[in-house]
Amino acid sequence: MIRNIPEFEALRQRAESCQDCALAGTRTSVVFGVGSLEASLMFVGEAPGKNEDLQGEPFVGAAGRLLTELLGEIGMTREEVYIANVLKCRPPGNRDPRPEEIDACKGYLREQIRMIHPRVVMTLGNFATKLLLRTETGITRLRGRAHQWWLGAMLVPTFHPAAALRGGPRVAEQMREDFALVRHLLDEPPAPSVSGAAPEEEPAGVEARQDAELDPTEQMELFRTS
Ligand code: URA
Repeated sequence: MIRNIPEFEALRQRAESCQDCALAGTRTSVVFGVGSLEASLMFVGEAPGKNEDLQGEPFVGAAGRLLTELLGEIGMTREEVYIANVLKCRPPGNRDPRPEEIDACKGYLREQIRMIHPRVVMTLGNFATKLLLRTETGITRLRGRAHQWWLGAMLVPTFHPAAALRGGPRVAEQMREDFALVRHLLDEPPAPSVSGAAPEEEPAGVEARQDAELDPTEQMELFRTS
């Protein structure tokens, strides 16, 4: 549900010339995100890998092929969802994102989510899940259910597709369960607050979350890294 495409394009252009962390010095491309600005489903991964850095598009390697396959199994294509990462630039050697890199970058993701305003956000793996749910709880405990989230969206955590490629059929099977849950949520009629109301300008919408693991005193701050 995007109302202001120039605003989104301005955000993309700002990201493409971003120098806010050291990854600007080692990247080939800024991997801003891809897909429909009208998407009701948005994926959030960790950071671009080598192929993504070279091609400028998220999830184009082996993990991306699995993501596309799982999407196909719930009757959806990459073109109708939106795919982004926590970090827009590749950490050298695919090392883990550093807190200062996440801090420098998270505003782009926040604005992407605010402007696209999807009904369901699916986080892929621990990094994205911990950041967006502001929890230290691991993905194994958080997956398998929908968490009420910011701007009336539901957040469904699942494993990173690379973990399924490494971890074998059980991980892939659990991802399929999570994708089926997403399908179910999307098939439900939209709640009035999701379909009708304008997105909040500030992340006050996080107050709508009802996850008992979250500290209500922190709810004004959307993405926290430590
Ligand atoms: N892994 C991610 O988290 N994101 C990508 O874009 C590719 C691999």
